[in-house]
Amino acid sequence: MPQGETTDHRTEGVELTSQCGNCGGELVRDSGQFIDRGRLRWGVAGQCQDGPNAWCETGMGPAPEEVRQALLTRHGAARLRLADKNASLVPVLRALREMQHLSLGKARRVATDLEEVGLVGTSVEVANLADGLRNQSVTVTITPSRLTGTA
Ligand SMILES: [Zn+2]
Repeated sequence: MPQGETTDHRTEGVELTSQCGNCGGELVRDSGQFIDRGRLRWGVAGQCQDGPNAWCETGMGPAPEEVRQALLTRHGAARLRLADKNASLVPVLRALREMQHLSLGKARRVATDLEEVGLVGTSVEVANLADGLRNQSVTVTITPSRLTGTA
């Protein structure tokens, strides 16, 4: 479980080990999510401890599920909620549609979730969404969450 520290993280990493497909040695994969110029990104750097097998992979947007699950297991999840339940949802919808290119219908559902149960994801996913909302002057709260569901 996460140690009561802040969950508003801009970067979060986890090390995964498995067997190297080339030589059977120990393969270490340094995986993580981070925010770069307001965009959610992810990266995996793999390195065999016993041979030359090494690679690096990065991408924009949501991380591969394996990386997300490893981060959630290692660091716990975060929950994002709107701080003011009576606030207008218009800026919330604007932020969601800009950041995630959601249809209006989908953005409305996400906004309703944010207002009620909150949205659960990795700390970095939640921090990224929180940034976008704050840019629209929406006040939000982030709290540690149990491992449930996805963002
Ligand atoms: Zn190897």
